[in-house]
Amino acid sequence: MCIQYYREYTCGCKRQEEFVQCDKRLGSNVRCDPVRPVPLPGALHMCVRHMVQEGKDEMHG
Ligand SMILES: [Zn+2]
Ligand SMILES: [Zn+2]
Repeated sequence: MCIQYYREYTCGCKRQEEFVQCDKRLGSNVRCDPVRPVPLPGALHMCVRHMVQEGKDEMHG
């Protein structure tokens, strides 16, 4: 079964990362349905969507 790696951030968001096609499908444009979700080591920070620019809604403490 094809693998979809994902990473979970501290804000709770899961972001899709690398997709790996299984040998059976290799060379085709077909993927398994469903694919197998595999978590990558968790991030130690929030995802980019939940980060703010410096000075804007910045969290203190
Ligand atoms: Zn597959
Ligand atoms: Zn997030």
